[in-house]
Amino acid sequence: MSKEPKISFVIPVYNESAGLDDFHSSLVNCLDKSGLDDRELIYVNDGSTDGRLKKLNVVAKNDKSVRVLALSRNFGKEIATTAGIQAAHGAAVITIDGDGQHPVELIPEFIARWQAGAKVVIGLRISNHKEGLVKRFGSKLFYGLFNRFTGAKLIPGSTDFRLIDRTVQAEFNRMSEHNRITRGLIDWLGFEREYIKFKAKPRQSGDAGYSFKKLFKLAIDSTISLSLSPLYIAAIFGAVVLPLSMLLGLFMLTDAALSDPLNLNATGSAYVIVLILFLIGVLLVSQGIIGLYLSHIHTETQNRPLYIVDKASSVNIDEN
Ligand code: UDP
Ligand code: MG
Repeated sequence: MSKEPKISFVIPVYNESAGLDDFHSSLVNCLDKSGLDDRELIYVNDGSTDGRLKKLNVVAKNDKSVRVLALSRNFGKEIATTAGIQAAHGAAVITIDGDGQHPVELIPEFIARWQAGAKVVIGLRISNHKEGLVKRFGSKLFYGLFNRFTGAKLIPGSTDFRLIDRTVQAEFNRMSEHNRITRGLIDWLGFEREYIKFKAKPRQSGDAGYSFKKLFKLAIDSTISLSLSPLYIAAIFGAVVLPLSMLLGLFMLTDAALSDPLNLNATGSAYVIVLILFLIGVLLVSQGIIGLYLSHIHTETQNRPLYIVDKASSVNIDEN
């Protein structure tokens, strides 16, 4: 046994079985080479449906440092990562994707920065060749809006390849919201942080589990769960539109009273229709936003557990 403190690795996996063997052996090789003997590898099986993840259970049965936390169904990467972080026992917890896109070679550097005092070490992705224009544009837009609305400082390119100290993990575990984005919550927590740049590798196999639709929902959900500003925006919009429409009405009346010196020639009903449509738009937008908040309040008040562990399919997971 080394004197180094125990490091936990949290790897969410959803139908990654084809590339998982490669990932696992590259991770183990890297850790062995770096002398990181005191470790636990927590694979969170996020309700994979390809069945072949059972191989991992076999590995775990022969190696106490490999733990498999099986969720009862697909809960999504954010919840799966949360489940893994909550189960971790290490002095530091490293979250890393199981699809081979996060370079394991950087792990020693993450640990070195942590040992030098950083409480959070964040992997920054500098390019991803396979990423489509839509996804790249989408993520730019997301970071811009997210930071503006929430006041959190999420750096563009920051990923879930991160290390958090045990103290940060303890605070993270106290957060109970259901609509969550792990990196957003960790950023919200603060603490001393460092960044490590890396180039994302292509996926080892399979497809990215996040569709544009899923990412869009994630962006909306996480902004709403961290910020009330969208509610104020609707209110401010309404407060701007109301006096403007009144001014427009006054303007039309004055122009008509002076027998149309501006030669607008617009019929009154045309203006009215445009105005009504606009106001209806404002109302609908505000209602939609209120609906979103209500739906969040709804899920939070249901107070269901964040995830369900399928204990029978898990290996080396504490009983409680
Ligand atoms: N993942 C998961 N649950 C899901 C979708 C993805 O646990 O519902 C895992 C997936 O197996 C991978 C990581 O989350 O280890 C990142 O997923 P992906 O590669 O699809 O996302 P991207 O690289 O596009 O961020
Ligand atoms: Mg990926």
